Amino acid sequence: MDRAVFLDRDGVINRLNRGSYVTSWGQFEFLEGAKEAIAKLSGSGYLVFIITNQSAINRGFLSEAGLGVIHNNMLCEIEAAGGRIERIYHCPHRPDENCGCRKPETGLFQQAGAEYGIDFPNSWFVGDFESDREVAKRMGLRFILAEGDGGLRKAVERILAEG
Ligand SMILES: [Mg+2]
Ligand SMILES: [Zn+2]
Repeated sequence: MDRAVFLDRDGVINRLNRGSYVTSWGQFEFLEGAKEAIAKLSGSGYLVFIITNQSAINRGFLSEAGLGVIHNNMLCEIEAAGGRIERIYHCPHRPDENCGCRKPETGLFQQAGAEYGIDFPNSWFVGDFESDREVAKRMGLRFILAEGDGGLRKAVERILAEG
């Protein structure tokens, strides 16, 4: 089984603007050190995944194709910096749809586990909300709260130091 690091997108990789959604590539802004941190992780033997709630889709602000464009641009920049993301999983649902994949529900983590064979107790989730801690607890993942610029860099330093 592989060890993995699951990354939240908004607030960890991309600057979070509360109350607004990223609906075009122009609104996406890498947090300081995020790309370099992902590159470090990719070279360390961990599989790196992104798991993100994107309710803008089912709220009607963003299409699946539009999200695909944003994610392709994001992946190009990450790869140019030497990073590799194994896969991006997203939940398109609104909270009122009560799906099984919107964090803190665990559906997308379970899907990654089924598709890749993840050693969850020796894997990590990096999120920017205390509620992200809840999903980590449910999955038996180790958790780090990342805070804004430089947050992912610090998280990765800790992951690599703790092994
Ligand atoms: Mg977030
Ligand atoms: Zn969902």
